[in-house]
Amino acid sequence: MNKAVRKAVIAGNWKMNKTRPEAQALINELKPLVKDADCGVIICVPYTNLETALEATKGTNIEVGAENCHWAASGAFTGEISAGMLTEMGVKYVIIGHSERRQYFGETDATVNLRVRAALDAGLDVILCVGELLEQREADITEEIVGMQTKVALGGVSAEELSRIIIAYEPVWAIGTGKTATAEQANEVNHYIRTVVAKLYGDAAAEAMTIQYGGSMNAKNAAELLAQPDVDGGLIGGAALKAADFNTIIEAASK
Ligand code: PEP
Repeated sequence: MNKAVRKAVIAGNWKMNKTRPEAQALINELKPLVKDADCGVIICVPYTNLETALEATKGTNIEVGAENCHWAASGAFTGEISAGMLTEMGVKYVIIGHSERRQYFGETDATVNLRVRAALDAGLDVILCVGELLEQREADITEEIVGMQTKVALGGVSAEELSRIIIAYEPVWAIGTGKTATAEQANEVNHYIRTVVAKLYGDAAAEAMTIQYGGSMNAKNAAELLAQPDVDGGLIGGAALKAADFNTIIEAASK
């Protein structure tokens, strides 16, 4: 497997943080820091910040994503946002299947698949999150869990569409906990996901796929994680809220 053929992508997941003025200030701080990045730079922001982020990043190398979308094009789904509403605004990416959606909002592999399909159909590129719970790792079923999540989420996705998907391996026990997977653990599961994708779509597609690691990646541990052969970038929560830390991770990915 050849890391050089893949694009490293660092994506920030702001979660439920930042008012519009706070978002504007963070992006203003970020823009000059990351302008020469040699990797993809994405910020996934709350719906209320999308317009601010799109405006503030115009003409820069920062791309904007949402943190979720619904699978229906429109209808009686109070509180939800459709993929088409996002593309109409100019949003390029959407996170689907984040563990916090699975944990707190009843997302299942089946609804993740519906959302992936809807996002692709509407023209969004997808950051698809998969990852095991601590008890699943302890029961030694990480590969089974992550393999199943990946296969179900990619149901009905064509080989051509696959090039618009980034997979983020995010062990649930490492998200927001300060407990990072070791570089070896991250690489091992990322590699396994690549073999699952290879079985479904062939070696070339798997080799070309960007597979990120996410889970307490920060300015200190990013370089070691990102140096792993199967870790092609990161999905960053807490550290994406500080421009300097996010930039340090971007610099590590640019090497
Ligand atoms: C995330 O939200 O996807 C994430 C990885 O969060 P954190 O970096 O804070 O663990």
